[in-house]
Amino acid sequence: MRLRAGSGILGGDMPTREPKFPRTPVIVVSGFLGSGKTSLVRHLLRDAQASGSRVAVVSNEFGELGIDRALLGGGGQAFVELDGGCVCCQLTDELVETLESLRREVRPDRVVIETSGVALPYDTQLNLYREPVSRWVGEDIAVVVVGAEQLAAGRDLTQTFEDQVTSADYLVLNKLDLVDAGRVEALEARLREIEPEAPIVRAVRGRVDPRLLFVPRPRPERGGPDPRREHSHEDFASRELEVPPGIDPERLESALLRGRALRAKGFVELDGGVRLVQLVGPRFELLDPPDDLDPGLVGRVVVIGREPLRVSLAGEDDA
Ligand SMILES: [Zn+2]
Repeated sequence: MRLRAGSGILGGDMPTREPKFPRTPVIVVSGFLGSGKTSLVRHLLRDAQASGSRVAVVSNEFGELGIDRALLGGGGQAFVELDGGCVCCQLTDELVETLESLRREVRPDRVVIETSGVALPYDTQLNLYREPVSRWVGEDIAVVVVGAEQLAAGRDLTQTFEDQVTSADYLVLNKLDLVDAGRVEALEARLREIEPEAPIVRAVRGRVDPRLLFVPRPRPERGGPDPRREHSHEDFASRELEVPPGIDPERLESALLRGRALRAKGFVELDGGVRLVQLVGPRFELLDPPDDLDPGLVGRVVVIGREPLRVSLAGEDDA
């Protein structure tokens, strides 16, 4: 497990997040200009519109998104462009203020921050641990979009590129329609050399399965078939895992990773009490649950991953 804000490295100095619920997930989308960040953001907006979720977008890539206001559904008030500097270092106060006013005015279910091409996602994420936004932000996920063509050409793979790639929770290898299919494995290997842990998701035109970033809530009825999804370039599966009380968290973590899970979220009862379990890329976290948690949700973890998704808590001890 890597060290991240809120998971140890800065834990001593960071304000702890109050366990109020539901908290709002924030996705930070980074990557070079031309990597396809904007099409990924548009794709997330279309998905939110289809699923009836309210999204607020903060874009630091000025003028790039050229946003289709209709996708925002709310007359455009949920879209803010931050201009005049980089959101990870120069406009950090503006970012916090903007997020706070979006929360007040829009009450978004999801927030997407599109950084400039030179911004570092980790530095951007640190602002989510500042008051007052730390009170309502839920999971913060760094997605770094990599243009396959750029990688294939070996263009600008310098320090900024490496810094972005190594702080990703998910790497989106995008624009795969612009390179030879036979080169994809070699490109992934190249990314692996720089960042060995973060899952790599293949994409064309920024189409990434939105469930990876915004985990759906457990369905009212347990089990049942996976609902049909709009085709995204790389198809993932989702399952609901029943987790018995008193499970050893390490056993749960290894079951998720062995079973090809890329993302998981749910509530489990451990020996010390109920905890929120989150798997975000290579990060496995146990967090405080909300005070007003519906007991019917405990013991149920939604898991998203590659087919064949074989997450099971049985068998490890018997094998
Ligand atoms: Zn910056």
